[in-house]
Amino acid sequence: MTGEPLIEVRKASYVYHPGQPDAVEALRGIDLEVRRGEFLAVVGANGSGKSTLARLLNGLILPTRGEVRVAGHSTADPEARWEIRRLVGLVFQNPDNQLVAPTVEEDVAFGPENLGLPREEIRRRVRAALEAVGLWERRADPPHRLSGGQKQRVALAGMLAMEPACLVLDEATAMLDPAGRAEVLDTVGRLHRENGISVVLITHFLEEAAKARRVAVMDRGRIVATGAPRELFGRPAWLERLGLVPPPMGQLAARLRRRGWCLPPGIITVDDFLAALGLSPAAAQERL
Ligand code: ADP
Ligand code: MG
Repeated sequence: MTGEPLIEVRKASYVYHPGQPDAVEALRGIDLEVRRGEFLAVVGANGSGKSTLARLLNGLILPTRGEVRVAGHSTADPEARWEIRRLVGLVFQNPDNQLVAPTVEEDVAFGPENLGLPREEIRRRVRAALEAVGLWERRADPPHRLSGGQKQRVALAGMLAMEPACLVLDEATAMLDPAGRAEVLDTVGRLHRENGISVVLITHFLEEAAKARRVAVMDRGRIVATGAPRELFGRPAWLERLGLVPPPMGQLAARLRRRGWCLPPGIITVDDFLAALGLSPAAAQERL
């Protein structure tokens, strides 16, 4: 699935309030590539630079040093600005700050209308986007009637209507309850699998990041490790030093190992745990 580079971040640094006494070096020499069709997770403690990186990826901010390219265009090229914003859609943490129109349908139409597309094409895209997130039936509802998870799915539909190559979710599930979180993650997973959209999932929930093929770990403005979730998340002491909470199933496995249980490395999810015990989720269900 993974192909050529879609987003290339080269030696990018970002300073807030440069040259001022309150200057903050939020990113320090980031090198990162997001390939077409890739599902990448970015994890890191609060303040490690994740949101700053998210905003660099679609050119909302420009690196103080270094370069970001999207589909070959530098984000510093003013002529490519709108194409880059279309290609890389950002979904933020707070579902209430992202929806602007009186109905779900009008909200999703907002982006394509700004592209100046013909009315028929706008209608087609809005329908396809709302069907893709499972909210076509709710198209006439005012957004405030929706749950947090549904609002984030409308925000996703708004991005989809732009026919993006990549979705960047900046802690987009952090304010949701567990059901809403699962709803949004399932939708994103499906869009990735079925439409081949690249995903950059920024989160501090390591169980969520475990769904990605590759994870980048941030610490104080740097990427300190990249690798498969199973390689990185089986190191609880290291994760804790970085201010991250190891996945609960990994912690449980570590405690059981200390008590002499013989369990394989790389246990992160409930399914891993069951598999280590020789149980499938279905078999476990049957025993209940
Ligand atoms: P994260 O999303 O991982 O919590 P951020 O990218 O939001 O990290 O922040 C990285 C660093 O930049 C932090 O030290 C934060 O305080 C600082 N920072 C973020 N936004 C601003 C801003 N608008 N002005 C000044 N400093 C900021
Ligand atoms: Mg953030």
